[in-house]
Amino acid sequence: MAQNTSLTSLKGVGPALAKTLEKLNLHRVDDLLFLLPLRYEDRTQLVKIGALEAGARCLVSGEVLLAETVFRGRRNLLVRVTDGSGQLTLRFFHFSRQQQAQFHVGTNLTCFGEVRRGASGFEMIHPEYRIMRDGQDAETSDSLTAIYPATEGVQQRRLRSLTDQALQQMLAAPPEELLPSAITRKLGMPSLAEAINYLHRPPPDADTQRLLAGTHPCQQRLAFEELLAHYLSLRNLRVLAAAEDAIALTDGNEDVSGFVKELPFHLTGAQDRVVNDILADLAEPHPMMRLIQGDVGSGKTVVAAIACVKAVACGVQAAIMAPTEILAEQHWRSFSDWFRPLGIEVAWLSGSQRAAARRESLEAIANGGAKLVVGTHALFQEGVNFHKLGLVVIDEQHRFGVHQRMALRDKGVSADGHPHQLVMTATPIPRTLAMAAYADLDTSVIDELPPGRQPVSTVAVPEARRDEVVARVRSACESGQQAYWVCPLIEESEVLDYQAAEASYQMLSASLPDLRIGLVHGRMRPAEKERGMKAFKDGLIQLLVATTVIEVGVDVPNASLMIIENAERMGLSQLHQLRGRVGRGAAQSHCVLLYKSPLGRIAKERLAVLRDTNDGFVVAQRDLELRGPGELLGTRQTGLPDYRIANLVRDAELMPQVQITAESIRKESESRAAAIVRRWLGDASRYGKV
Ligand code: ADP
Ligand code: MG
Repeated sequence: MAQNTSLTSLKGVGPALAKTLEKLNLHRVDDLLFLLPLRYEDRTQLVKIGALEAGARCLVSGEVLLAETVFRGRRNLLVRVTDGSGQLTLRFFHFSRQQQAQFHVGTNLTCFGEVRRGASGFEMIHPEYRIMRDGQDAETSDSLTAIYPATEGVQQRRLRSLTDQALQQMLAAPPEELLPSAITRKLGMPSLAEAINYLHRPPPDADTQRLLAGTHPCQQRLAFEELLAHYLSLRNLRVLAAAEDAIALTDGNEDVSGFVKELPFHLTGAQDRVVNDILADLAEPHPMMRLIQGDVGSGKTVVAAIACVKAVACGVQAAIMAPTEILAEQHWRSFSDWFRPLGIEVAWLSGSQRAAARRESLEAIANGGAKLVVGTHALFQEGVNFHKLGLVVIDEQHRFGVHQRMALRDKGVSADGHPHQLVMTATPIPRTLAMAAYADLDTSVIDELPPGRQPVSTVAVPEARRDEVVARVRSACESGQQAYWVCPLIEESEVLDYQAAEASYQMLSASLPDLRIGLVHGRMRPAEKERGMKAFKDGLIQLLVATTVIEVGVDVPNASLMIIENAERMGLSQLHQLRGRVGRGAAQSHCVLLYKSPLGRIAKERLAVLRDTNDGFVVAQRDLELRGPGELLGTRQTGLPDYRIANLVRDAELMPQVQITAESIRKESESRAAAIVRRWLGDASRYGKV
């Protein structure tokens, strides 16, 4: 097929450029068709200077009022332009004498660039510009200009020429239509070739609004296929994993029911249901890959413990991995309490352990003396060898990367096969997003909180009223409650983080001399941290000042008041997680979000969401809308791939149909499914091997 000819067949592509393109995953002419514009620039109309808005990229035409060089640390060329409706400054940091000489007062020019708010009104930095001869009209384009993804060493102009040629070839030999025609008909989608052509070169009468918003049917056509490709690839991973061997854990039903009977509470209906899902999976001779989603406080830990009871009863080891030392430590404590009556020791492994203790743990893990091991990511590092690892539990999985998850799993690979895998997350994500992100996992949801929990009542209070908040902490603690005071998160700086916590600690100690106050932050030695947490848990400390190290998992039911400083800087899901540290006991709990005024629009919205709801699913949905899926899923760590055209938020409503289509394609034609994955993800699926 002509489409699959090599790139060097194109005009202007020699071996060197072909090599550069190779790095961008462009191997064949066909691949260029799927190098889709990232966005469009609208040069179809002139925008009046008086109507400019910051952030927009616009085409403007005007007359030079003034051109001057000034020193602002370095030399700047400033060109003031007007079109009668307002004034705009063009700012250049690099310019030649020749360039400078072009800008006479009275010269007419058109320019294109991003509008920013400058010191004296709107400005454009290094705009593209063109000087116009007398009587010449400003030139507008007929159609939107496609902007391709930034590709090092290949300019937009070049990409335009290459895609032009590829589009030309496409006329003779369009790429294979891989969606079943029943689907495209049903969804009223344009053909593949039509969509591709339209998106690379939108016609003059294109629906600009929808194209810019990414909701044009041609975009949706391709987004659908891309989502389908990712979904199929994950499903494939799932199928491969399901075909692996694992030890079927069938014994030990009495141990499980005995354990459940001894718990100081009854399982909720939701916990019961999820436990049954897990036990059914474990009894299979193939590895479980199950994700448990449950809001903060829904009781995921005990569900994991039950799975561990089962594993140990069947003679295999179980490992529980948590993302922070504090949380791992807490799990170790809970598991030790739960398993001691059964005569089972729980081993501990962390990065900061002393050498002797570590050696002892490693030995017990290797010889099978340790049936259960709790730890941080130290669990999957080199030198850790399990005797017979049958179950891996990963708590707060969104904090780990896929690779870490896989590494721990690989630790357990033996002649008996792969270990079972249970991953838990308190970041509930909307169903449609979960479909896309977790298609390689089976999912169970704990959608019920233990009885008697009251929603945490939440208020937002400006910094100026800090004294009132301090007084409130005093009266709460005097009446026997415990409180957290969480200190500002300082981006990327553990040092500043801890200094801020230190400062708040000093301030609170001075204003509340009668309270027993503790401090925990990320820079403390683990033993110190642990002492602080334990003292708080045991009620010896009334007020715990902490950095966001307590964000995940920490469970102290008597704590019923939480103050979060600089709440305006934190993300919604994070605030929800933090707030989840209270409201774990029977007492009515409160959360105070202290903020610095004035609040920006998004920050205001965030705080309002928390005030209005305690439901993690609602919070997640709003977070998704405000921040996008990358942040919510921790994309950077999880290795969730970037999409070329689909957007998980914008196109979420396509997911149910994507899922249905994927299942039917899988059934009808494996080769078609494989072709779709190959087209969008290349030969080496970016999800890596199983
Ligand atoms: P999370 O889902 O946030 O990890 P945890 O497992 O830490 O929640 O549980 C929160 C608290 O609820 C713990 O103190 C736990 O002992 C308690 N808990 C769990 N299940 C129940 C239940 N069915 N009834 C009462 N309390 C429960
Ligand atoms: Mg937890």
